[in-house]
Amino acid sequence: HYNFCAGPAALPTAVLERAREEMLDYQGRGLSVMEMSHRSDEYVAIAEKAEADLRELLNVPSNYRILFTQGGATQQFAAVPWNLLGPGGTANFIETGIWGKKAIQEARHLFGAAHVAASSAESGHVAVPRQQDIALSSDAAYLHFTPNETIGGLAFDYLPHTQREDGIEVPLVADLSSSILSAPLDVSRYGVIYAGAQKNIGPAGLVVVIVREDLLDRARDDMPTLFSYRQLAEAGSMINTPATYSWYLAGLVFDWLKNDVGGLDAMDAINQRKSDKLYAAIDGSALYSNPIAPINRSRMNVPFVLADSRLDSDFLVEAEQAGLLNLKGHRSVGGMRASIYNAVPEAAVDALVAFMNDFEQRRG
Ligand code: PLP
Repeated sequence: HYNFCAGPAALPTAVLERAREEMLDYQGRGLSVMEMSHRSDEYVAIAEKAEADLRELLNVPSNYRILFTQGGATQQFAAVPWNLLGPGGTANFIETGIWGKKAIQEARHLFGAAHVAASSAESGHVAVPRQQDIALSSDAAYLHFTPNETIGGLAFDYLPHTQREDGIEVPLVADLSSSILSAPLDVSRYGVIYAGAQKNIGPAGLVVVIVREDLLDRARDDMPTLFSYRQLAEAGSMINTPATYSWYLAGLVFDWLKNDVGGLDAMDAINQRKSDKLYAAIDGSALYSNPIAPINRSRMNVPFVLADSRLDSDFLVEAEQAGLLNLKGHRSVGGMRASIYNAVPEAAVDALVAFMNDFEQRRG
């Protein structure tokens, strides 16, 4: 079976197998990682290795801290403004879909204001705004964007500049939940990166935050302790009991990326081939279509519709019979969506393309 779920998503089989091997008795210690004290030497070694591997994979500069926190990416919709609006100013956003919109709503809910510096809503989110269309507010404190919108399948093809009219460059904040680790990343261009784990990292609930050190003292005084990047950084992400097992599993995924895949350049090449094949199948067909401007097509989430939506349910039933799982589009948009994150092998895309061709020949 191949799992095309948007999240929680497929994990690498090798990672699941290793977790199973180590489940009851971690490396002869006589207990499961789940049962270890987070302060124990064994567990601290697991946590530190995970962080070091992630730092190496993404080439994270030494003036950035990596946090392993909880509450999903959604919690970061609140944590980011709490952490960055201390000195005042307004949160700025580029809106390119549903997740970005939720981040805007949360900032507005908490701080009464949020400035939408650019939006692709009018176009129906089929292409991202261009640099010249981004208008920061004069009091912008930071610019938040969603490099890959998971539901719409819309991805940025460039990194937005963040200079205000007065020349001040504000930090760029990215919700990389659905594309982190799919390709190399220049971390130094960002102020804050965050990602819910359940696509390319590990189990849902865990969140990885990468934050530039000089931003750590911007936090508001009246914010919840557990949201504070500074306090999380000072405590090594262990203010309270961290999500120990999820952190361990994330570490296995980082190890897999480094040693089995061969790093992010190799992952990038595989992801490029996978998405090229799938979009070629869609574009070469009369039955399937994808509305996104080619330059902004996501390599992780590939939504497509059938020319005759009455065929949708047959498509899904037959796909499942062929071992192709979770191809139903998000409930808000309908149609189909194939999420082809890192752990989805190229063979899965080949099987999907073969099924789509066959289905079109029989039913199209
Ligand atoms: N941001 C993006 C881009 C997502 O794809 C998701 C989806 O899960 C979220 C935020 C929300 O994440 P969570 O459910 O972990 O809060």
